Amino acid sequence: MRPLSYSSISLYQQCPLLYKLRYVDGLKPKPRAPLSFGDSLHKALEFMYDIKVPPPPPLKKILAYYRQNWVREGYDSEEEEKRYFDYGKEVLTEFYNKNIKDFKLPMSVEGDYIIDIGAIKLRAKIDRIDRLEKGIEIIDYKSNANPITIDKLKESQQLAIYQMVVELQLGVRVERLTYYQLRTQIPISTERYSDDKVEKIRDEILSIADKIRNEEFDARLNDYCPCDFPHLCPYFKDKYPAEKTGVLEDIEGRATIKEVVEKYVRMREEAKGVEERLEELKDIINKYCD
Ligand code: SF4
Repeated sequence: MRPLSYSSISLYQQCPLLYKLRYVDGLKPKPRAPLSFGDSLHKALEFMYDIKVPPPPPLKKILAYYRQNWVREGYDSEEEEKRYFDYGKEVLTEFYNKNIKDFKLPMSVEGDYIIDIGAIKLRAKIDRIDRLEKGIEIIDYKSNANPITIDKLKESQQLAIYQMVVELQLGVRVERLTYYQLRTQIPISTERYSDDKVEKIRDEILSIADKIRNEEFDARLNDYCPCDFPHLCPYFKDKYPAEKTGVLEDIEGRATIKEVVEKYVRMREEAKGVEERLEELKDIINKYCD
């Protein structure tokens, strides 16, 4: 079974069928502006912090990197894309001005951690880990508009999973966990999660892993329905047949009719080349046998 992560676990909790479509069948979700925007900001912050020795690059270089690595997909129009792009520049400038004075070299940037729990692998990609006087702090950047409440932070399955993975892999105690809200520049932190809470989440992950192994993939209605694949959902397929969404399932995953036609033409050409080569090989064999 492929490693589980916070994203795949929460997707299974949201809707097991959607998990299957995404992680078993490999269908790709539609690109979306907020996700592309978040990716672009994360890349720029990685550039700022992922250095061998201080000082970090100047703001001008960070903004140039942001421009070069801007993720373009998912925006409805050029105007919308420009609005997001300009807003991202403001966010990065404020972030830089607020954090540059106390800049410390992080212990890890965009670290990819993986542990075994039971028979499965659990993976966590963590934006930043800072060393504290005692222990470490896990920092996750949030670029969405909704502010995070203390209650939400205390209940965070994501950060508790990160704590579990990092402590097991690095053998260092996590003392603080922070969501850094990029739009407001407000970090919101909690002390480490209790061992009880982490243990409960561990059990929940193992139970989800069992269900995945048993192929329990029922559709579950939730606040985000319909998802990107309503034509494959028993609750929505009558309202959203494949022709209406313009999305089809081809042998390698989700594709539009235009992509399927292009692939067909390309493969026909390739097949023609193979047939010609086969004829040549047949001739060589026949000549050899004459
Ligand atoms: S539309 Fe169907 S498959 Fe998609 S999330 Fe909702 S219930 Fe699940």
